[in-house]
Amino acid sequence: MELRQAVNRRLTETVVASRDAPAFDCSSVDGWAVATKSFQGGERLLRIAEGSGEAGLVSDQVLADGSCVKVMTGAPIPPGADAVFKVEDVSVELGAARFPAKGQPGQFVRQRGSDIRKGQVLLEQGSLIEPWNIASLAAGGVEEVEVVKPLVVGVLSTGNELCDDVSQLEDGKTIDVNRVSLGAQLASHRVDVIDFGICGDNETELFEKLTEMSGKCDLVLTTGGVSMGDFDFVKKLALQTDTLKWFQLAMKPGKPLVAGRLNRAAFVGLPGNPVSSLVGFEMFVRPILDRRPDHQIAPPKLLRAKLHACTQKPDDGKVHFKRALLVQNADNDLVVSVHSMQDSHQTMGLNSTNCLVKLTRPGMYEPNVVVEVLLCEDLIRR
Ligand code: AMP
Ligand code: MG
Repeated sequence: MELRQAVNRRLTETVVASRDAPAFDCSSVDGWAVATKSFQGGERLLRIAEGSGEAGLVSDQVLADGSCVKVMTGAPIPPGADAVFKVEDVSVELGAARFPAKGQPGQFVRQRGSDIRKGQVLLEQGSLIEPWNIASLAAGGVEEVEVVKPLVVGVLSTGNELCDDVSQLEDGKTIDVNRVSLGAQLASHRVDVIDFGICGDNETELFEKLTEMSGKCDLVLTTGGVSMGDFDFVKKLALQTDTLKWFQLAMKPGKPLVAGRLNRAAFVGLPGNPVSSLVGFEMFVRPILDRRPDHQIAPPKLLRAKLHACTQKPDDGKVHFKRALLVQNADNDLVVSVHSMQDSHQTMGLNSTNCLVKLTRPGMYEPNVVVEVLLCEDLIRR
């Protein structure tokens, strides 16, 4: 894989430098290159030799005795020179330059290989390539790296009512939110996503589609069709397949779920309502992605925070995950505000959501009560 694409991927090989960096002795300042032996007799005035010494230009002319040449930062030190003086320390007078001292051999000279030596190990096999690593890899002449193959995830929405072209929306049709929304979740995990579109509520068509997906993907992700309706064929398939299981989980949202394996692929069938599918993604898909060796997103963090205002949970035997906003207040306390709209079709509240408040005890929760919070974003807002 090209180096510039490889951030956050894990190396399957140890990477070594193909070149020295710097590749030649060069100046570390804008200045004048000299041979320090020119100053041995106490002379401080040197003749200015031809050549500008621009960065990128190589001079093969040996610096003549008693002369000096201008060099810019990064420019090669001409053969014969062994030190550089800063421009600001040298005064120029009529074709000659006056130097303040005799100088030390090697001053303001970056030695060839003083950063990286050809053949030196830059990153070990198994390392995660982080943005900070790219500089040394690039400097060491690395253009491509072998990395862990990304997980291939196939995404399919199911439902006769779904439509992914807003201009074609007829009465009774629903915009396919989940494929876009789950696609966005997956994008931040750097997996390869294959979009399998929408499948109608047709058993044969669905079976064929899922079989195709299981042959092409490591993980098959579907939404819809796992509930109690007459057209919930993902559930029906799960009930007929040994390696799949249909669950009714004691949680809200996200009660129905299908999980297991279909042929060689892992399979997760999330519920259809957009919020239920997102919560299911957090709970059941993210942990699968986080177990991958090349994952780079921290797993969701379970924190404790004070409730901003009262909220309640009915005595329904389920764990409730409420959309909420976690902030750190001026006293550095974590305070969480539960959103008022919690129905599983209500996507708008997600815009002011960065966490899920986990409520297990039925009853009233008063302001300032400490609750458990599952952080869904990487950062906490202020
Ligand atoms: P289902 O479990 O298939 O009955 O879906 C439950 C609800 O979620 C229904 O109201 C569906 O219309 C809705 N739904 C299912 N899939 C999607 C989707 N991809 N985007 C938006 N809503 C959906
Ligand atoms: Mg459906």
